[in-house]
Amino acid sequence: MGSGVGGLSAAVQLALKGTKVLVLEQHNMTGGYSSSFIRGRYEFEVSLHELCECGDGKDGHTYGGVRKHLANAGVYPDLVCVPEAYRVIFENHNLDFTMPFGIENAIKAVAKVVPQDEEKVRNYFKLCEEISNALVYIEGCPQMKPDPMVMMTKHSSFLRTAGYSLGEVHDSFGFTPLTEDILSAYYGYITRNRRDVSFTVYGLLMYLYVRDGAHIINKTSHGLAVDLEERCRVLGAQIETGVYVAKMLVENGAVVGVQTADGSKIRAKRVLCNCQPDVVYTKMMDKKDVPDNALKLCDKRVAGASLFSAYVGLDATPQELGIDSYEIFFNFDQDAKRVYDATKVWTKYITNMSATCIDIAIPGMTGEGRCQIGFTYLLDPDAMAKDGVDPSIYQKNKEEFLDHLIEMYERLTGARIRGHIEEVEVATPATYVRYTGVPKGNVYAYEMTVVDGIVPRVNNKDAEQYIKGLDFVGGFGRRAFGFCSSITNGFDTAEDTLLKLKEAK
Ligand SMILES: Cc1cc2nc3c(=O)[nH]c(=O)nc-3n(C[C@H](O)[C@H](O)[C@H](O)COP(=O)(O)OP(=O)(O)OC[C@H]3O[C@@H](n4cnc5c(N)ncnc54)[C@H](O)[C@@H]3O)c2cc1C
Repeated sequence: MGSGVGGLSAAVQLALKGTKVLVLEQHNMTGGYSSSFIRGRYEFEVSLHELCECGDGKDGHTYGGVRKHLANAGVYPDLVCVPEAYRVIFENHNLDFTMPFGIENAIKAVAKVVPQDEEKVRNYFKLCEEISNALVYIEGCPQMKPDPMVMMTKHSSFLRTAGYSLGEVHDSFGFTPLTEDILSAYYGYITRNRRDVSFTVYGLLMYLYVRDGAHIINKTSHGLAVDLEERCRVLGAQIETGVYVAKMLVENGAVVGVQTADGSKIRAKRVLCNCQPDVVYTKMMDKKDVPDNALKLCDKRVAGASLFSAYVGLDATPQELGIDSYEIFFNFDQDAKRVYDATKVWTKYITNMSATCIDIAIPGMTGEGRCQIGFTYLLDPDAMAKDGVDPSIYQKNKEEFLDHLIEMYERLTGARIRGHIEEVEVATPATYVRYTGVPKGNVYAYEMTVVDGIVPRVNNKDAEQYIKGLDFVGGFGRRAFGFCSSITNGFDTAEDTLLKLKEAK
């Protein structure tokens, strides 16, 4: 049920191993957030800023796990490496910093700004490398169940840090505030709360991006969905779009199929849901069929960030407009608590945002003499609850907010875009609610906290499978949200499903 990259990855892997697969997608096309949309003469990228684990194995880069999973299944998306990890503008530090790719390059770049922290930064990346090695080991273990002795002797740094937040680990290094801010700049990709996010998750993300480069898909992330869908079909999977799954069919405590919105009942040996578990448990199943622990886990989890996203089509080239970077993070405020609180209200105070110009990474991507910028601002999924989506203020709020983002962008980069806007579209949490059916529009699934990061999720994957025959894939699955986690999770879950199908024979 559902054809985001998580659902499609699971489908392709199951079909590859000869399983009979049916994918049901409510929209008229597959991909979920891995998509594009058209306004006037512009095709906008919906979501993708940077993919990790897509290194090509050349020039000292590792052959990334995501690229490998896809290639093993016969899927070869047109991946393009972006120019640098990120550029970050700190207004209050009066600093415009670019983080290059390559661990040694990154250490040198930070040391140029904060020379006294060079050794600390080197040790920090070393620690991140150890985390990455430990996870490679864990993923290679049958059922991802590592040998405790190997973990203790070879991956002790992983065990030592697994229970700590990013803020705590950064404090332990004794970085100057500027170094901490520079190294935390990726936080907006995973959380609104940079100090409390799980260090394991952040350290891994930072390390993999810097070591292997970050990639995007030529012709937008919709291309990835198309490649996955085509491969599924070639392998014999059936994909039906425009079909909303309304109910789970349950017999003797086990899910045995689904019922679609038109009342059709489809039986299946296993159902994989590419959506938020809360929705399945509370809207698609009878209360009596849902164990208390399943509901308690949903209640305990913290909804991840939603977004205010603006897609702006410009009638001139990046060079003509003075745009010279692919991805810029704008950090106006370094106080993590204040930034977090500000995301709870969507109209008042702008703290940090990002702006992405795809045409810098893929020249001419938008079309001759044109380009596009995507603005992204993190919002608490409940941010609109107070101000609401009252039609009388919704439009005004959207316009004011976007106006403010553009003002900041022009002021801090010197680029001039306002007079060149030909098309503009805005997505808010309300848009995301409508698009994927996630009740609060939380794009970032569940917050990756210390107690609910990748380690506990992978460790508890069997214990948290509460209902026979039912599993979850994608951003709400056992890893994290984001393209790479969703894809990897799709492949892993498919492997578990194959095992369970075999056991059931
Ligand atoms: C603006 C934006 C920027 C982002 N930037 C990045 C980035 O730079 N890097 C990164 O890694 N990630 C990024 N993400 C996040 C990333 O896009 C998602 O985490 C990932 O694509 C989610 O994939 P998924 O498989 O979980 O499914 P989704 O994309 O959520 O798709 C789920 C699918 O299931 C379908 N579905 C749900 N319920 C039903 C039902 N009842 N019946 C039928 N179909 C159903 C939905 O219609 C949808 O197609 C971004 C997201 C957004 C919105």
